[in-house]
Amino acid sequence: MATASTSQAQEDFSKPVITTETKKDADGKDVLYMYIDGVKVHETDPIKQPFPPIVTPGEPPAFMAAPSDAIVLFDGSEKTLKENWTDTKGGPSAWKVVDGALESVKKAGYIQSKQGFGSCQLHVEWASPAKAEGDGQGRGNSGVFLMAIYEVQVLDNFENPTYADGQAGALYGRKKPLANACRKPGEWQSYDIIFHRPVFDEAGKVTRRATFTVLHNGVLVQDHTVLSGGTGWMGPHAASEYKAHADKLPISFQDHGNPVRFRNVWVRELKD
Ligand code: MG
Repeated sequence: MATASTSQAQEDFSKPVITTETKKDADGKDVLYMYIDGVKVHETDPIKQPFPPIVTPGEPPAFMAAPSDAIVLFDGSEKTLKENWTDTKGGPSAWKVVDGALESVKKAGYIQSKQGFGSCQLHVEWASPAKAEGDGQGRGNSGVFLMAIYEVQVLDNFENPTYADGQAGALYGRKKPLANACRKPGEWQSYDIIFHRPVFDEAGKVTRRATFTVLHNGVLVQDHTVLSGGTGWMGPHAASEYKAHADKLPISFQDHGNPVRFRNVWVRELKD
């Protein structure tokens, strides 16, 4: 059972407390449930892991231009695509600019910023394809990765349910959003993310965990959530402890095979 105590987790920041329990399903088959730091994760049954409430966001404001001290990573131009972004190997990305938006291209792989960032405020707007195809995780799936490691899920969850910690605004596989604030397919949506990077000591042990505050279309969906390790689905990656990494790493967007678009991407660096 999930008896993980928070104090135990806090004593040793480098180790998320992972507990599991096995229960029989209706057919008598063993089903494994996982908890990370007492939070149930990787649970596909909404009775056991209820969906967050649906909140209809307000009318979108006029295009939210970058503030004067922001680093503009993508402004709708080919120029900012070429100057600021690469594929994961450092070569030109095959993602394309369509109508002033950066569009994910199937099999092109992730796209990442040339510049590395640690703690930061990130504004990004995204739109899932106007023609909703597929369901669950197959509809309008992408992701915004901080430090190319920690994923804020991008998914078309407008009248498209999926497991709670895999829906839009989730820290993927770790923490479901407080609300489902999705707009309709094809409509522009915003994420405003305040991220503080994890801090490691010289031995590579985490001494301060990463935190995420996320607003989805102006609705708070992550409230200073403390992340206890990587983001991912059940398995070694999801259950991973922190692995020490550089203080600054790229911001990246996921190619999950769906032509999700991004625009108006800007970032402000923050003190750790
Ligand atoms: Mg994703």
